[in-house]
Amino acid sequence: MFKLPDIPISIFSTMSHLAREHGAINLSQGFPDFEVDPKLVSLIEKVSKGTVHQYSPMAGESKLLEETSRLVYESYGRDLDPKKEILITAGATQGIFTCIQALVEPADEVLILDPSYDCYVMPITLSQGVPVRIPLNESFLPDWELIKQCVNEKTKLIITNNPHNPSGRIWSKSDMQELSNLLQTNQNLYHISDEVYEHITFDARHESANLYDGLHPKTMIVSSFGKSFHITGWKVGYVVAPKKLMNELKKVHQYLVFTVNSLSQHVLSEYLQQQNVKQLGAFYKQKRDLFRIGMENSKFELLPCEGTYFQLASYANQSQESDVDFCHELVEKFKLAAIPISVFSAHEEKRKVIRFCFAKENETLTKATDLLCKI
Ligand code: PMP
Ligand code: GLN
Repeated sequence: MFKLPDIPISIFSTMSHLAREHGAINLSQGFPDFEVDPKLVSLIEKVSKGTVHQYSPMAGESKLLEETSRLVYESYGRDLDPKKEILITAGATQGIFTCIQALVEPADEVLILDPSYDCYVMPITLSQGVPVRIPLNESFLPDWELIKQCVNEKTKLIITNNPHNPSGRIWSKSDMQELSNLLQTNQNLYHISDEVYEHITFDARHESANLYDGLHPKTMIVSSFGKSFHITGWKVGYVVAPKKLMNELKKVHQYLVFTVNSLSQHVLSEYLQQQNVKQLGAFYKQKRDLFRIGMENSKFELLPCEGTYFQLASYANQSQESDVDFCHELVEKFKLAAIPISVFSAHEEKRKVIRFCFAKENETLTKATDLLCKI
């Protein structure tokens, strides 16, 4: 028989498809609807004339590895060896898949904090590992007592995601300290830190695992240039891990993809020298605020949003329908696509909450909020 009978089509594909079918404003799948930086477009033209069209080295173009190392150093002060501690991947998705395949053996348990992004479970199942899904608390933050209770001698990995999709919450120093203690007291436990929204925080600094010496030896940090440079379709990301772990990741990577698209790597190597990711938080904060102000006269209740480009909203005042039904009605009747958050959890989701993506032109956001205020 086939190996993966229970894997559904992702909610992101489903809702984007429905948005197209119903001619709806698409605030569901997380991607920008605005033009990319013209500098990036001219770099593609310039770079593509060079000798850049054959296989890149397995772990990544050396210039891109160096620039990524510089980015990490400037952002967090962590000094990485570009040749030994960084891997360029085909998006964060491949980075996460690679980490899981390299570490998880049959019957190993992997802790996942729900609601969680959808690409964690399948590679665990493929490795015959066991996903252990632990709910985040009411505020979408970690419940450390509960997490500690779930760790046993079979626990191989914990996957964290900060800034958090779908909630937009960010972790505090004390959360990072708890995580650090957990890794230090459990020798067999490793950590995947999904930080794809690392440069999109609004009022507080992002607590990257790169900042914590206690996390570093057992942590694989995954990020995505797709989020930081508005190029989700390029599917280029990176993993940072200490040399010993990185050697294991490379064993999977070389047979999974061998190497990542060469043109994107060359373009990004040059673009990273010109780009300042520090502006990204302010850029998206303006969009978050525009969306939140536009929603003030709606019946939705907005939840806190500290990072990412997602805004959660409760519709409990309007309807008692499930979030999946509510989203279907929203796209079919009102021509606006959003994401139901229950699909990110293994446990029953009682909150009547849906997710909107605000990585959109201001005009799109105004149209969307005008529409949402009429519901
Ligand atoms: N992790 C999270 C939390 C995400 O939201 C996404 C979606 N972009 C990914 C990983 C995957 O990123 P990429 O598109 O670079 O594969
Ligand atoms: N990360 C995006 C989101 O959360 C979706 C990416 C995808 O479609 N796989 O909306």
